[in-house]
Amino acid sequence: MNYTSTRDSQKSAVLSAEAILTGLSPDGGLYVPCSIPQITLSDIEKLKDMSYIERAKWVLEKYLTDFSADELDQCVVGAYGGGNFGHGDVAPVVKLSDSAYVLELWHGPTCAFKDMALQILPRFLTCSMKKMGETRTTAILVATSGDTGKAALEGFKDVDGTKILVFYPSDGVSDIQKLQMITQDGGNVMVSAIRGNFDDAQNGVKEIFTDNAAIEKLDERGYVLSSANSINWGRLVPQIVYYVSAYCDMVKSGEIALGDKINVCVPTGNFGNILAAYYAKMMGVPIGKLICASNENDVLTEFINTGKYDKNRKFHTTMSPSMDILISSNLERLLYALSESGAADVNALMKSLSDNGSYQLDEAMKSKVSELLWAGSADDKETLRQIAKTFGAHKYLADTHTAVAINVYEQYVAATGDKTKTIIASTASPYKFGDSVLAALDVAIDGKDDFEQASLHQSRDETNANIVPRGMNIADMDDFQKLDLLCKISGMAIPPSLSELKGKEKKYTQVVDKGEMDKVVYEFLT
Ligand SMILES: *Cc1c(COP(=O)(O)O)cnc(C)c1O
Repeated sequence: MNYTSTRDSQKSAVLSAEAILTGLSPDGGLYVPCSIPQITLSDIEKLKDMSYIERAKWVLEKYLTDFSADELDQCVVGAYGGGNFGHGDVAPVVKLSDSAYVLELWHGPTCAFKDMALQILPRFLTCSMKKMGETRTTAILVATSGDTGKAALEGFKDVDGTKILVFYPSDGVSDIQKLQMITQDGGNVMVSAIRGNFDDAQNGVKEIFTDNAAIEKLDERGYVLSSANSINWGRLVPQIVYYVSAYCDMVKSGEIALGDKINVCVPTGNFGNILAAYYAKMMGVPIGKLICASNENDVLTEFINTGKYDKNRKFHTTMSPSMDILISSNLERLLYALSESGAADVNALMKSLSDNGSYQLDEAMKSKVSELLWAGSADDKETLRQIAKTFGAHKYLADTHTAVAINVYEQYVAATGDKTKTIIASTASPYKFGDSVLAALDVAIDGKDDFEQASLHQSRDETNANIVPRGMNIADMDDFQKLDLLCKISGMAIPPSLSELKGKEKKYTQVVDKGEMDKVVYEFLT
C-alpha cells in the first residue's frame, strides 16, 4: 500500500513507514492511502469469531503492507494484549436501547479514547525508524490541555529509541489530569508545567520545532524531534479497527444480521475518530449515515449543514474540552476523498482557509457531504441534562463527550425518523470528567431542572442533601471523594488507574516561565 499527500497533484507515493515517521507531508498535506482495501461480508463472517487482537492484525496488515507479520504482531499484542486494556474485548459494544449502542473506547490506561491510537503509535514509530534507517533517538514534544499529554506519556513510556516531554499550562488542566501527568512512571519521560495558558504551551513547542539552531543542536546530541499529533496516519489507522470490530460484535451478538446497515455517531473534535468510521465504510463495512456531534464549538455542524467552513467565530470553553476546536485538521482527508480533482481542490480550499479563515464547497461536494454525514450540536446545559436522562432511562453513565453524542443521536432520530441501529462512540470514562457528571446527577436527583447552576459548579447547601452525605457540599469535596460518591450512585467501578493516583508519588512538580521551555528541553535531551 502506498500513501500520497492530500496536496500533491503528482501523486508521488511513500510507504507507510515514511508516512508514520514524518507525520506531515513536506508540502503541508496529510498522507492518505492511494486505494482503500476492501472487506467482504464473508471476511466479516470470519472476523466475528476472532478476538480484538486478531481483528486488528487483519485490518492493519491491509494498510501497513511494508510491516512484516511479526512486526505487526508485536505492535498489536503490545498495545492491546497483556491486560493493558481493562476490558477483555478491548472496545466493547454496550446496548443502550433497541436502536442505540455504545462503543466504549476508554478502557485503556488513561481512561480516554486517545489510548486506542496512542498505545500502538509508539510501536509503529519504532518499527518505522528501523525500516527508514533512523538511528537517532526520537524526542516527542507535546503541549497538552489534558487528555493527549497523558495518553502520549503512557504510550511512549519506556519505548526504546524514544523520549517524551510534555508541557501543560499550570492552571489549565483539571486536578485529576494534572495528577495523572505528574505521577507518570517511565525512565524516558519528563513533564513540566508552564506559567501560562494552553496557547502559550503550544506556541512554545511550535517555536522549538521551527528553530533550526535548536534542531541542529539536538541532532548533534543524537535526537530528532517528532510530535505524534492526531494527523499522523499511524494514529488514524488503528481507529478504523474498532469500527470493523464493533460491526462484527453486532453480528455476533445477533443484534443485526450480516449485511444489515448500521449508523455511527461520533463526538467530534479534530475529525479523526469519525474519519476512521468513514474509512471503515469505504472498505465495505455496512455503515449508513455518519452522525457528527459537536459541542457549542459547532464549526462542523455548520459546515455539514451549509457547505461553509468558517473558523471566524467565538471559541467556547466547554465541559467537553477535548472537542473544543476551531480547525478540524483531519477534515482535509475527507475533502480529498470526496473531491473529483483531489489535490487541486484541496489546495484551493486550504489556501482559502489560511487566507480568510473560511472556505465554501461547491454544490457537487456539498451534496456529497450531506449524503454521507448528518450533524448536530449540544451545549453544556443540554449535555448535563443528557447525562441525567441517560442515567435515569438506561442506568448508563456517560461522560460529557459521550453525552454530546447521545444528545445529537436523539436529535437525529427526532429529525429523520431513522431507527437504524446506531453505534455511538463513547470517548471517555465518566470518571475522567467526574466533576461534571456528578453535577449533572446531583441536579437531576434533586428534582431541580437547574442545569445552569450545575455548569457553574455552585453548591446549593440546603438542596443537595439527597446524594451528598449530610454536612457536606460537592463544592467542598476533593476529587477522590467525588469519584467515591459517583461510584456509590452509579454502582460502576472506578478505573484502578484513577483511584491509584491517590497514593502515587508526585515526581514532576516543576513550573517554569514560558520563556524557559527551551531550557527544559536541553536539560532533558542531554
Ligand atoms: C480527542 C477526543 C475527542 C475528539 O476526537 P477527534 O478524533 O479529535 O474528533 C472526543 N472525546 C474525547 C474524550 C477525546 O479525548
